[in-house]
Amino acid sequence: MRYLAPYQTGLWLAEYFDIRCQLCRTYRSVPQPQLAHAYSSQDVESRGDAATQFLPSRPSSMAKYRQRFNSGLLCKHCHHSITWLPTPFTVDIAAGTILPIQAATYYDYPMRQAIRAFKYRENMTKLPLLLHTLRQLPRPHGCHKNNSVIVAMPTTEQRLIKRGFDPVLVLATQLSKHWQIPLWQGVARIDNTVSQQGLTRAERLSNLDNAFALIEKPPVKRLLLFDDVATTGASLQALGQAICSQTMPLTSDESHTTDYYHIRAYALAHGSQS
Ligand SMILES: [Zn+2]
Repeated sequence: MRYLAPYQTGLWLAEYFDIRCQLCRTYRSVPQPQLAHAYSSQDVESRGDAATQFLPSRPSSMAKYRQRFNSGLLCKHCHHSITWLPTPFTVDIAAGTILPIQAATYYDYPMRQAIRAFKYRENMTKLPLLLHTLRQLPRPHGCHKNNSVIVAMPTTEQRLIKRGFDPVLVLATQLSKHWQIPLWQGVARIDNTVSQQGLTRAERLSNLDNAFALIEKPPVKRLLLFDDVATTGASLQALGQAICSQTMPLTSDESHTTDYYHIRAYALAHGSQS
């Protein structure tokens, strides 16, 4: 984790010493509290069954302490312009098992530009904006450091060499700190698939056949998958399918296979296919 230090330093500077909005650069006149815990249960109830799995739990005393000293990274106006929590959507990962996917925002301006600048050009000045948005994800109900892990979408060695860093892992590390839930890197990406960009849903799924291999057994039963952008959810679906198929006990009893692991997925942004 030592290589994450420069990202952390930049974030501290942005969070505690820069009093300007990370998006419009005006001075933040009104302290902007983090709204991750202010997500009302009424909003969730109106979103249907899939959404209820994302009910936030009460903030810990540590989270309250951090909120007090954290004035936020965006001005009120920008905060409200980007934090539209998309309705969760689901994909099938095994017979009778669905994977709910919750994104923090939509993959539109200005998030699209910020994500691309960070991901493809390692533009660190965009990281505070991405982190601010990431913190809007409702904390998964009932999940804590002793019963859950975050599984960042693994990258290929080829892509890691080309980029020199792993953007999804950097974001997942920040989510891990925010939720106080550890990261688990027990899945390897064994494919050398072409980029998912521009492919149809069917092409995306077949592109990801046998793309992931478990290198160790998950340490807990609750797995929170994370990716930067979920478009059709095909990558998260393939990762969820791989975990299900490689951890399911070989049994003819169907009831054993339905809820062996509790898997949910999160993304920074939900993109439209274009
Ligand atoms: Zn602003």
